[in-house]
Amino acid sequence: MSHNPYAPPQARVVTRATVSDDASAIRREGNTVVLVPDAELPPRCVRCNADAAEPIKERTLYWHTPWLYVLILLSPLIYLIVALIARKSVKLHPGLCAGHLVLRRNVILGSWIAALAGIALIVTGIGQSSGAASLAGIVLMLAGIIVGMVKGRIVYATHIDERRIEIKGCSEPFLASLPRRR
Ligand SMILES: [Zn+2]
Repeated sequence: MSHNPYAPPQARVVTRATVSDDASAIRREGNTVVLVPDAELPPRCVRCNADAAEPIKERTLYWHTPWLYVLILLSPLIYLIVALIARKSVKLHPGLCAGHLVLRRNVILGSWIAALAGIALIVTGIGQSSGAASLAGIVLMLAGIIVGMVKGRIVYATHIDERRIEIKGCSEPFLASLPRRR
C-alpha cells in the first residue's frame, strides 16, 4: 500500500471529532448546564446526582429575552401576549431520584394548601369586614404561589436559541459530573 503524504492524520481526526462531540453536546459553564439543541440531560437526579427514578417525565422549559420585561411597564397584558409569541421552548427530561421526587411533591402540596388557606382567609376577612384578615390572606396566598413556582420547578432555562440552550437549577454534584468547557 502506497503512503499518501497529503492524507489527513487519521487517528487525530477521529479523536478530535469524538472529543468535540462529547464536549459540545452537554457541558457545564460555571453553575450553568449548556446543551446543543436535541441533546438530553443524563438520567440522574439534578439535586444529588443519584440515579433518577424512571420513567423521567418530559418537561417543557420556556425562555424569552429579558428585554421583554420592559413591556410590563407599558401594559402587563401586552407583555403577556408578546411573551407568549416570542418565548422559545425546549423539551428535556430533568431527572429526580425517588427522595427528591417526594420532596418536590410535598413542597407543591404545601404551597397549594397555603394558597387555598389564603383564599379562605380573604373570603373570611371580607365577610367579617376585617382588613387585617384579608391582608394576611393575600400574603399567605401569594407566598404559596411564589414558593410553589420557585421551589416546584426542577430546572429552568436562562437562554434558548438555535445553537445553545442554558439550564440552571442543577446542584454541584450533578454539575461536577458533566464535562467542563475546554
Ligand atoms: Zn436526588
